[in-house]
Parts: sequence; C-alpha cells; structure tokens
Amino acid sequence: MAAGCSAGVTSTEEAAGPEQVQGTSTVAPPVSPAPSPSPTGPVGVLPIAGEVGKVDKGQLPPVISSISTTRKVVFLTIDDGWEQDPGFARQVRGKRVPITVFATRDAVEAKGPIDRSAENGRFLGAGGWPYFKELGVPVENHTLSHPNLRTLGYDGQKAEICGASTVIKRQVGVRPTLFRPPFGNYNTDTLRAAKACGIKAVLLWTASVQPGGKIAYQTPDKKLRPGDILLLHFRPNLSRDFRVLVNKIRRRGFELGNLEAYLAAAMR
Ligand SMILES: [Zn+2]
Repeated sequence: MAAGCSAGVTSTEEAAGPEQVQGTSTVAPPVSPAPSPSPTGPVGVLPIAGEVGKVDKGQLPPVISSISTTRKVVFLTIDDGWEQDPGFARQVRGKRVPITVFATRDAVEAKGPIDRSAENGRFLGAGGWPYFKELGVPVENHTLSHPNLRTLGYDGQKAEICGASTVIKRQVGVRPTLFRPPFGNYNTDTLRAAKACGIKAVLLWTASVQPGGKIAYQTPDKKLRPGDILLLHFRPNLSRDFRVLVNKIRRRGFELGNLEAYLAAAMR
C-alpha cells in the first residue's frame, strides 16, 4: 500500500478496476491499460511540445509561482530541512517521485532558529546533508539562515544566496539554479543577488500543505489548478502526510510533474 502511493502510477483502487471487470464475460474488451512510467524513464510527468506557456525573460531571474499549462499536473516542493524523517527517505529513495527540495543550511545542519512558517517544525535528530543527498532529488537554494531578505541590503542577500549555493554544491554535488526566498519575501536586490549567484529562476508557490496532508489554498474555491506549485516542509511525519497528499492529488485527476523539465520548457 505504501509503495503504491509513491510509485508514480494511478492509485491501487483504480488499477484494480479493469482486472475485476475482465472476469465477467458480458463486458466489452478492456481498453489498453493506462500508460505506466518506465522504471528507467525520467522522474514525473514531462511537458509535451507547445504545452507550457513561456515566462517573460528579462534582465533578472523570473519569479514563478505556478507553471502555465492546461494539463492536470502539479508540482511538489519541500522546504527547509529541520526534520529528517527516515520513513520519507525510504518512501522516495529509488522511486521516481518528482519532488524538489529547497534547503536552508542552518535547518539542515540544525544550528539556526526554526522556521515558524513550518508549523510545529522542531528539530528531532542529528542534522546533516547526507539525508538530502540520499533522497536523490534536486536540492535547490533557500538561503543560509532563513532571514527575511527584505531586511537585508544587496550584499547581505548575496552572501545568503551565494553562500547556500556553495554549501549545496559542496555537500550534494550540484550547484542550485533555483532559489526560493524565505517567507516568499523578496525585492529587486534579491533578484539581482540571485542572478549574481547563478540562479535562473525564483520559485514561489501556489498553495501550502499543512500537517496531515491538508492543502491550504490561496484561492477561495479550494481547487487544484493545472500548474500549481505546492509547498511542504520537512516535518515530523512527512512520510504519512506525503502519502495522504499524493493520494488526494491523484484522486482529483492530477499527476505529479517534473518541475525542472517544465521550467526548462517555460524558459526556453
Ligand atoms: Zn522556509
């Protein structure tokens, strides 16, 4: 059951349906089975040609809070790094679950103040980078110390962003190209500093996910929309909440998209 929730196919209940129907003789021939992702294929749903709306490319990195598409696809991002739930690592490791991590050094290394936006976020065990390397997913930039960047000047912001990219490159092996400002707070200096640090896009979010897998929408109709970017945090019980969330997304007919591939298409 647990594996099915994160394996990138339709839910167990839906997958079982056609086989039961086949057992009766009066039913029309079964339609071809739903395509399942190749185990060696890339992670998550990929955009098809012409599907993705382009972002305006100016002098500074674009600020993106959703992907322009009509396909029922959403994107999962997980921030900070205070809690390192081993169950979650087992859930996603070796499986093709598309998530993007935005790591804060002081959270990962457990030496700064907690992110109050993470609700109940509290540090449980030894922090460190191996957990994030082990997840096998893109690890992007969420600053060194999780400050409100609007309170810092250009130099201070650049130190936070470039510093985090250097740490992530050293610890995980790949230099970030995406940046998420803590609390979603940024200004023009943020974009200039991000550019100077090699960041290609600044990623915000459309809705956040609360403990229990509940989605907190920023729109009153409480609906997922194609291209939504969902924000989670590394919290206690992330594995359970993640399972609930992914099932909910699939029940609503949405798939999990590969954020990096969709961004590449949007910025081509
Ligand atoms: Zn954060």
